[in-house]
Amino acid sequence: MPDQMTALAFLAPEAPAATAAPSSRPSLVGRTRAGLSAAMAEAGVPERELRMRTSQIWNWVYHHGVRDFSEMRNVGKDLKSALEARFTLRRPEVTASQVSRDGTRKWLLKMQPTGPHDRGAEIECVYIPETDRGTLCVSSQVGCTLTCTFCHTGTQRLVRNLTSAEIVAQLMVARDMIGDFPGRTAPTDGLLPGEGSRFVSNIVFMGMGEPLYNADAVTDAIDTIADGDGLSVGRRRITVSTSGVVPEIGPLGARSNAMLAISLHAVRDELRDELVPLNRKYPIRDLLDACRAYPGLSNARRITFEYVMLKGVNDSDADARELVRLLKGIPAKINLIPFNPWPGTRYECSDWDRIERFSDIVFRAGYASPVRTPRGRDILAACGQLKSETEKLSARARMMLDEAGASPSTSPLA
Ligand code: SF4
Repeated sequence: MPDQMTALAFLAPEAPAATAAPSSRPSLVGRTRAGLSAAMAEAGVPERELRMRTSQIWNWVYHHGVRDFSEMRNVGKDLKSALEARFTLRRPEVTASQVSRDGTRKWLLKMQPTGPHDRGAEIECVYIPETDRGTLCVSSQVGCTLTCTFCHTGTQRLVRNLTSAEIVAQLMVARDMIGDFPGRTAPTDGLLPGEGSRFVSNIVFMGMGEPLYNADAVTDAIDTIADGDGLSVGRRRITVSTSGVVPEIGPLGARSNAMLAISLHAVRDELRDELVPLNRKYPIRDLLDACRAYPGLSNARRITFEYVMLKGVNDSDADARELVRLLKGIPAKINLIPFNPWPGTRYECSDWDRIERFSDIVFRAGYASPVRTPRGRDILAACGQLKSETEKLSARARMMLDEAGASPSTSPLA
C-alpha cells in the first residue's frame, strides 16, 4: 500500500528556543488563559488591565508563536522586561526529528524536568500531512498504564501525566518545526498541505497514553488549542481517542465538545479483555451505552470506532457482522486500521483481501468504513507504534525495517 516515501532523513531542530539552555524561569507557552492571567499579575500588571494584557500576550504567544519577548511589538518595554525577568517562551526540547518517506514527521520531545531527580520525560508527537490538511497526533501521558496487547506504547510503563501546557506545547513545537507561524519559513523536504490549507488543521489525542486518565489536563489543553484568538483549531477538528474509560466519556463531551473516538478492536468481551484489558472493568455493553449518551451526538457528529485488523484474531466475516449489530443506532464511522507491526509483537496484519471483505460488510450495512492508510511506518510513527525510549533497535527490528526499505536508526540530535 502506502509507502511512496522518499528517503528517511533527520532534521536539525530549527527553533532556537527548542535548544536553549534550560532556565529555572517557567515558560508561558501552553498556559491556559487563567494561567497566563496569573503570570501577568505576577509580573505586576494591575487588576484593571489584566484582561486586556492577557489577550495581548495570548495573541503573541499563540497566534504569532513568538519565541522572544522582544518580538512583542505593541507591548511596552517595562512589561516585556518584567515578563522576561520571570518567564520564558521555551518549548520542550526537540531531541530527535525524523521525516518519513510519506512526509509523516515524528519528533521526540524532552519535557522540562519537574524536580532535581527528573531528567526530563520524553514523549513523541507525530505530524501527518495530506495535500489539503495536516493532522497532529499528540500524547497525553508519558507511557501508559494500560497494556493493550497490540500497542507498542503499552509496553512502556507510565512515567507521569502530561500537564495541559505540555500537551499544548506539542502543537507549538510542531508549528515551529513546519514553519507554521506568521513570517516563518516552511521546510523544503517532505510533504506539507498545499496553498490555502492549514498546516495543522486537526488534532488527535491518539499518541502515548490514555487521555481520559488525564482528563482535566486534556480538556484544559483543548480549551487553549481551540481558542479562536490563538491556535484556533475548531473543536470539531479535535478528536479524543479512548480505550474506554466509561465514567469519563460523558464529562469529556460536556466539558470539551470534542469529537470522540473509541479504540474498540473486538466485538466480543472475551477477545477485547485480551486486546484492551481495560475491557475487564468496562465491558463492551457499558462502553457502547456511554457512546449512545455522548453529548451532541448526531449524524453530523459521529463517533469514530477504531478497529485494528489482526490476522486470524478479529478479522472474520462474523466479526464484521457483529460489529454492525453492536453499533446499531449509534451515529458512527468505523476506521479499519491495518496493524502496524513493531519489534516483539505477537500479531500480524490481516491480509489485504480480508480487510477489503471486512470493510465491504461494514459498508453495505451503511457505515463509512475507510481503511486507514498506514503512515510513517518506516519511522515507527504509525498508530500503536509510539514508544519514546531512544533505544537501540534489536537485530530483528532492523531486519524488519530494512525490509520496509527504511533506515531504522534514531539519532539523537541534541
Ligand atoms: S492503545 Fe492507547 S491506551 Fe492502549 S496501551 Fe496503547 S497508548 Fe495505552
